[in-house]
Order: sequence, then structure tokens, then C-alpha cells
Amino acid sequence: MRRIFLGLILFNSLTTWCQDNYPKDFFSSPLDIPMVLAGTFGELRSNHFHAGIDIKTQQRQGLPIYAIGDGIVTRIKISHWGYGKALYVAHPNGYTSVYGHLQKFSPSLEAYIKKIQYKKRSYEVEVFPDYGELKVAKEELIAYSGNTGGSSGPHLHFEIRSSLSEKPTNPLLYGYEVRDATNPTLLKLYGYPLTADAQINQSKKRVQINFSKQRDGTYLADKVLAAGTVGFGFIGYDRQDMAANKNGVYSVTQLVNGKTYSAYNFEKFSFSETRYINTLIDYEYFGKYKQRIQKCFKSPGNNLSIYSTLYNDGKIEVAEGLSYNVELLIMDLEGNKVRLSIPVEGKRTALKNEPEEKKTDYYLIAKKPNNYDLGGAKVHFPSNTFYHNLYLDLEKGRDTVKIHDNTVPAHRNFTINFDASHYSESERKYLFIARLDAKLRPNYTNTYKRGGVFTTRTRALGTYVLAKDSVAPTIRPKNFKEKQWLNNYRYLSLYIADDLSGVETYTATLNGEWILMEYEPKTKTLTYNFDDIILDKKQCELKVTVTDNVGNKNTLSTTFFRK
Ligand SMILES: [Zn+2]
Repeated sequence: MRRIFLGLILFNSLTTWCQDNYPKDFFSSPLDIPMVLAGTFGELRSNHFHAGIDIKTQQRQGLPIYAIGDGIVTRIKISHWGYGKALYVAHPNGYTSVYGHLQKFSPSLEAYIKKIQYKKRSYEVEVFPDYGELKVAKEELIAYSGNTGGSSGPHLHFEIRSSLSEKPTNPLLYGYEVRDATNPTLLKLYGYPLTADAQINQSKKRVQINFSKQRDGTYLADKVLAAGTVGFGFIGYDRQDMAANKNGVYSVTQLVNGKTYSAYNFEKFSFSETRYINTLIDYEYFGKYKQRIQKCFKSPGNNLSIYSTLYNDGKIEVAEGLSYNVELLIMDLEGNKVRLSIPVEGKRTALKNEPEEKKTDYYLIAKKPNNYDLGGAKVHFPSNTFYHNLYLDLEKGRDTVKIHDNTVPAHRNFTINFDASHYSESERKYLFIARLDAKLRPNYTNTYKRGGVFTTRTRALGTYVLAKDSVAPTIRPKNFKEKQWLNNYRYLSLYIADDLSGVETYTATLNGEWILMEYEPKTKTLTYNFDDIILDKKQCELKVTVTDNVGNKNTLSTTFFRK
């Protein structure tokens, strides 16, 4: 018991030491409401760790966002996806703050970026202002919160990066106050036999282990019988006070008989390693059940830098006849924790009958490049597309190719070639490569056509098909009608959609002049702001053209009045 205690003191002082490097009380809050989080730093997301915190904005958009310190604007990016409208401010202390999913910028920044949008004739832009061109002061209004880009509800995505390395760091290490006295929640525990001769509870596969809460608030797992090299993993989340959101935990420590075998935390990471999240979680489990098990051991191909301690890669060698006390300590950044004890006894037992791993004709060695010609479709995996060797499940049907399924992650892009030469040139015009989603709907993937050969590059395993789209996009006015007087209108909004291959481009003119339309794919809406151009005619001609990803085109021409 004493050794465990010592280990904990060491662990705690280590985190304190690391956190001391970050300037506290330097930055002010980006919002003037209490910080309640809808997402924590390092939270497990799809193919990445969350690089900032998501601050709730009371289910509203349009809340003022303030610069957290004096600084200069180094980057403004507007995209349909990702961070939506985003602003980057570099501060003199070596850190850059990032504000994402914004509704709009401050009037002066809005004027600056609109000028560029009109010059480039594009809603999507990315600019790196000259050094010092745009200065902001601490607590100056810089933008309004929104829901743009890949955001599924109004909030501010907020990051603090090291300006030099561009590594995102945990914003809560800078002294921001988040009310949190709530312990993380442990949902499920799993044991993993990791070598061919290993077993846990009569099984050679992942097994779920039950646990229960003790009187002292810690958790105790049922006794585990094991042999060979084993590891553990858990499903858990963290909650703050005043919010029901299930956020990510800050740190995970695994001790074996008091010795730290693995410890990692979300103090910082780099964007170049973020996709290795697919080796930290049990990806197969995630593919099947959409829940993420965090492993306390390092799997093949895991190049993450988040570990502060690793002994034997967090794997436990269980010897016959010996007993082990495995402990998991899961903490949030405020130090609220969950502690779980797993008694392990080294005992080899008769195995249960379990189905063998499915063996196919396509055994893939991960570190080599692999090419498969399936007749009518070719698949090329560059070396190290995958983290580990595997039996690939490949199948070619008529205009379809099954490339395994979503239980295996790919780290790099691979190439699929479809032979479309059995279609005439006029038919091929409407065809594209699509990946079938869980509901078997075709989702457009970037298709390069060279004669009868269609190519796509992707990192998602699954079933790909040649799909057809000969239907032009839909365009419809949303807040006005043909020949209407729109004197008091501040905005024009239109609905645009394309069912099959999806919207690729849109462009609009007013009395023959290009106008900026803000496109929000989530609501399929184009919006024009009447402040942009002074109209010199009463009768206005609006023309909107939308093309889809295979080139089908639709144009809406309409007239309205305004004075
Ligand atoms: Zn976010």
C-alpha cells in the first residue's frame, strides 16, 4: 500500500511541475459568461484528438468573443467545413489563441475579410495578414460566436497553441476557471490477451470485466484469471458541474503492484500525431459499437507522444501462481479522480470455444506496399497504410468493391481504381465513386476520371460503388418571392441542395455583379447580406448558379424590387 501511495505523490507532483510552465493569469476569458464546457482538450474524436476546448454559448449564436490578450491577427480562415469561420491571434508570450465556428468577425475584421472575399470571388478564403497589419488589444471584441463549419450546435471552439511549434496545448492549464468537482465516470472495463499464448478468463479475445463501487468510493473489479502478456482498457468520460456533456478525461495512469506501467495525459500533442488516436482506442470495438475503449497499453504502430511513463508498453506479463494488483487512476484536470483496482491471478485455464479469426486470401503485411487486382477494380495500399498485419476481406461485384469494413483503421490514403470502360462516354459523365455509409447511401468521394478509369484516394475502408447522378441541383428562394418588394430586408436567403453527388460550386450575381453568398451546408442555405453593395436600381436581377460534383448545373434567375 505504501508503494502505491508514494507513486501517487510522484505522479501528482509531476503533473504540477508540467503545468507550471504555462503562464497563469496572463490571458483573459474569450467570453463574458462562465466557462461551461461541451468538450475538453484531448477528447477522443473521429480520427483526431480534440485540439481545444468547446465552450458552451447558452444554445445561442452571436455572443461577443474577446481577444484573450494583446496580439496580432496571423490568420483568418473561412471554410464550409472544419472550424468554419476561424480567427488566429498571436500573443507576445509565444502562444497563439484560436477561435472557431464563429458567426462573424468584429466590424473592422469583417470589412477586412469581405474585401478579400469580393476580390477572390469566394466565400471560402484563408489569409495570413502581414505581421502587425491587424492588431488587437486584450479584451477587445474580435468576433461573435456561431455554429459554422463542422459544428453540431452553437459553441466556441477555443485553442491555445504554441506559436512556434503550433502544438495545441490544454487551455485549462492557463488558469481558466471551470467549475468541476465531479469525478470522472467509469463505464466499462476490458481485458486483452496480447500474445498468442495469452488468455484472460478462459478467453483469447477481449473480455469485459465487471466491477463495483466500494464504500470508500473506489472501484473493485472481479478477480481476473490470466496467463501470458495481457493489457487493460476502459470506457469512461468526465463531466463538469452545471453541464450534462460527456467530455474526455485528462489523465490515465496504470499501476501494477504500485509501479507505474503507463501514464498519459492531455497537456499537449501535435497535429502530426493526432490520427494515431486510432491505435489508442480499440478501433474494432469502435467500428462495431461506436464507443471508444481507451487502452492502457501501447499497440503496434502507436507513435503518440502523450505518455509520461511507459514500462513494458503498459503490458503485464502474468506468471503462473503469482498475484497482481492492477490499478487504474483516471483523472480530470481539476484532480477529480476514479480509482479502480483489478486483482489478477496467474492461472492458465481450459479455454472456451471461440470462433477463430476470419482468414481470407489477402494477408497484408503492413510495412510493405500491397496491390490487389480484383478484375474491374484495383486497390493500392502504400506501405504503412495500416498499423498492423491483417487478413483483408476484398470482394468485387458489379460496379462495387468491398474493401474490408470500418473495424480496421487506415493511417494513410490508399487508391481505388474502377474500370468504367463498359459505359459509354456520355454515361460516364454522370458517374462517380461513392462510399456506402452505414445506411447504404452513396457518399461522393473525389473522383478523378481518365478515360474509362476512375480513381479515388481515401482513408476509409468499406464498400465503394460506381454511382450515377444525372439530376441537377435544386435552388429555391427561402425568405422572398419573385417580384417582391424587399425594402426592409437585411438578408436574402436561398435553399440549395443536391441529393446524389452533392453541391460542388455556387455563384451568384446581382444586376450582373458578383455577390458574396455565405454557404451553410448544414442548413443548405445561401445567404447574401444587403449591406455588401449599394444598389442603384429599383428592379434587381438575381442570378444563382449551382453545380454538383459531376457537373450537373442549375441556374435560378429572379427579380425583386428594393429602394
Ligand atoms: Zn471544438
